[in-house]
This record gives sequence, C-alpha cells and structure tokens, in this order.
Amino acid sequence: MKKLSIIVPCYNEEESVPLFYPAVNKVMDTIPDLEPEYWFINDGSKDNTLKEIKELRKKDPEHVHFVSFSRNFGKESALYAGLQAATGDYVVVMDVDLQDPPKFLPQMYDLIKTGEYDCIGTRRVDRTGEAKFKSFLSDMFYKVVNKISDTEIVPGARDYRMMTRQMVNAVLDMPEYNRFSKGIFSWVGFKTKYLDYHNVERVAGESDWNTWKLFKYAMDGIADFSQAPLNLAVWIGTGSFVLSIIGLIIVIIRRALYPGSSIFGWASMVCIILLLGGLQLLCIGILGKYIGRVYIQVKNRPIYIIKEKK
Ligand code: UDP
Ligand code: MG
Repeated sequence: MKKLSIIVPCYNEEESVPLFYPAVNKVMDTIPDLEPEYWFINDGSKDNTLKEIKELRKKDPEHVHFVSFSRNFGKESALYAGLQAATGDYVVVMDVDLQDPPKFLPQMYDLIKTGEYDCIGTRRVDRTGEAKFKSFLSDMFYKVVNKISDTEIVPGARDYRMMTRQMVNAVLDMPEYNRFSKGIFSWVGFKTKYLDYHNVERVAGESDWNTWKLFKYAMDGIADFSQAPLNLAVWIGTGSFVLSIIGLIIVIIRRALYPGSSIFGWASMVCIILLLGGLQLLCIGILGKYIGRVYIQVKNRPIYIIKEKK
C-alpha cells in the first residue's frame, strides 16, 4: 500500500481544523490503496489551533502527526517543515480552510500513479468573492513576473498539488531562506499537469492576506526569481549617459556658432538633477534589496524552529 503525506499549514485556524479532517478523510476513504499521513503544521497560532490538532491526534494517532513552531514563521516555512517531515510516497500540500477542494485527491492520485506526471497541480480559473483591485494586482503580477523571469509562474496556480517523492526531494534540496513556493515548484522542473477549478471561499475564519501583504509577497517573488530589476539600473545609467553626451555636443556647437550667447536652461537643469537623483536612489534601493537578501541568506538562520513534534 502506498502512503500519501498530507501537509497542512495552520495559523489561527481553530475553527477550520475540526472541519478539515473529516472532509479529507471522507475522500481518502474512497481511495483504498492509499494510506494517509497527516502533517499539521501549527505556525505559531495564537488561538486553540494546537489544541484542536492534538484532539485529532488523540482520535487517530496512527495517521495524524503535527509539528508546532515556536512562533509564526509564515506559510512558506510551514510548507518546508511539512515536506521535511513527510515520509509518504506521494505528498500533497493543502490549506486547512478547505479552499483546496479535497474532491480532487482521487483524480490527482489516478493521474500521478500512471507515472506520466511528477506533479498534479491545481489552478483557479476565476476569483469570485475576491476584491476587483486584488484580482487586478494578481493579473499584473503574473504578467510582469513571467516577462522578466526565467522561471514560469503559472497564473492562478495554487500551492495545492500532489508530488512524487522524487520531486519532493528536489524541493527539499533548495534550503533557501526566502521561500517563494510558486517559483520553487516551477524551478525544480518535472512534468506538471494542472487541474482547473472555480474559486471556493474559506469555510471559517478570515484570510490573513491583505492587499499590501500580497504586494510585498509579489515583490519578494520577483526578487527571488529574477534579476531584471538589477538590469534596470544598467539601462537607466546607459540612457542618461547617452543623453548627456548629446547635450554636451549641442552646448559646444551652440557656443562655437554664437560666442556671445548666454548660458540657458536653469529650470531644466534643476529638473534634470532631481530626476537623476531620484533614479540613482531608486537603483541603489533595488541594489539594497538584493544585498539584503544575500545578507539574510548568508546568516544561514533556520527556516523554522520546532517547539513540539509528534
Ligand atoms: N498560514 C500559515 N501561516 C501564516 C499564514 C497562513 O500557515 O502565517 C496558512 C493558513 O492557516 C492556511 C494557508 O496558510 O491554511 C493559507 O492561508 P490563507 O487562507 O490565509 O490564504 P489565502 O487562501 O487567502 O491565500
Ligand atoms: Mg485560504
């Protein structure tokens, strides 16, 4: 019998945890040749999430396991902890709020066990129930990141995916501190098939992601998987250098032809100085962002700290 590890990151999800387990178990019962291994990752929740998880473990100690962090490290760290803990032949990553419909599990397993694919992912084809501005920003993000990065980020792709042990091991070999899973899952390669579905709203609680947080997440994703912003500095520098040479030539010629003419252009000079100053600060800022990431990585701090594991 094959084993499927189910990785579930949880942050302040006391209401969702007791709903998640029976919903997934019901579906798992329809796949008799697959044994589940649940890994709940309590990502430093401030509510009774850990208590609820322990309750589940009491009921089903054979299949339910958990890792509890010493504080909130973020979903990406929780996913990594889950992947490290998982022992299954196949591994699936799921949100606890049931926004990743468990009904896809049999179909995913049927596809992955043929051996034709290494990963069966899911993709949201609409975003009903989400703010228009947020959807717009997401669309923009996918367009920009796919233009400037070598790693393809599939629009609407969720973290909800079933992977083979081989692919999981490849992901585990990427111990980077800033983890952008959408990029990492794509970067490792392997053959992925996507199943499309319509957006489902969370069963309980509230999403922790506001527009500002998503924006920062998107910017981090771009910095992690593209060096295009660094090239921007080179292009701005080249452009202003060429323009200044042209300006110089014009000034010299004008001076030669009309020796008595006065110097012109005070207002435009102020504008140019301000513009160039601004662009320089922007480029230094971009550089700083990358150096900051190098700094974080070389410190080599752990991605998460475990308080309890069972
Ligand atoms: N999550 C987590 N740590 C965090 C934030 C979220 O482990 O710091 C978990 C959360 O409990 C849920 C999943 O990540 O299982 C997705 O979170 P959420 O539903 O808030 O995100 P959305 O579905 O809106 O993208
Ligand atoms: Mg959610």
